[in-house]
Amino acid sequence: MPELIPLPAFNDNYIWVLTEQHNPYCLVVDPGDAEVVIQFLQQQQKTLAAILITHHHADHTGGIRQLKQQYPACRVIGPAAEKSKIQELEQLVVGGDSVTVPELNWQCRVFDLPGHTAGHIGFYSAPVLFCGDTLFSVGCGRLFEGTAKQLYQSLQSLTALPDDTLLCCTHEYTLANIAFALSIEPENTELQLYLKHCQQKRQLSEPTLPALLANERKVNPFLRCENIVLQRKFNQNSALALFTLLRQAKDQFKS
Ligand code: ZN
Ligand code: FE
Repeated sequence: MPELIPLPAFNDNYIWVLTEQHNPYCLVVDPGDAEVVIQFLQQQQKTLAAILITHHHADHTGGIRQLKQQYPACRVIGPAAEKSKIQELEQLVVGGDSVTVPELNWQCRVFDLPGHTAGHIGFYSAPVLFCGDTLFSVGCGRLFEGTAKQLYQSLQSLTALPDDTLLCCTHEYTLANIAFALSIEPENTELQLYLKHCQQKRQLSEPTLPALLANERKVNPFLRCENIVLQRKFNQNSALALFTLLRQAKDQFKS
């Protein structure tokens, strides 16, 4: 059984580590900060087999160079479309590719997820999804380089995954996202329950992640734009129109 560990970094980032008991290797996803990763690997007496990168932002890529110096044998795998922005990439991938990390006997499929950045990708190995800054618990990424339509379609490709999918998002934004979601759907009882659950976790300084896709479909407004009642409430006549409106409203929202 693989083990999934979110290493907190900076204010609210997580660097996901995947490893196995009795296996000396790990892979990490989006190591914005090398120090926390090196500290973890030294504590656990493990070494790095691969670095997976979802997109070019510095809080996801800033630690690559130092990790590569410390663990020269590890491979750096990331989006072909962002090659020019991430000098350290060694293996370039696009949607539909499969990626193998033989040291962990692990394989995943690459998803193209444009929207937050133009070349953003995700990595899926059932039931685990590394979705970077595309999907958050009860939220989604900001539009920096793509259109609302692109991000909407990216989220649609993720909601098609099985109910038991574990969303390994890269930021602890859940409570702030719930505050926005409650302003959209104050009557959503699943959301009210999830708020209590997440408040308890944060009080214990525990991550609210990974998030379960089955639950996100009930509580994440950005995955609920097909809902006709919600569309009517906001006078929109399509899922994309509602999504576009919600994404803009979230940018303005102050709790
Ligand atoms: Zn980002
Ligand atoms: Fe980020």
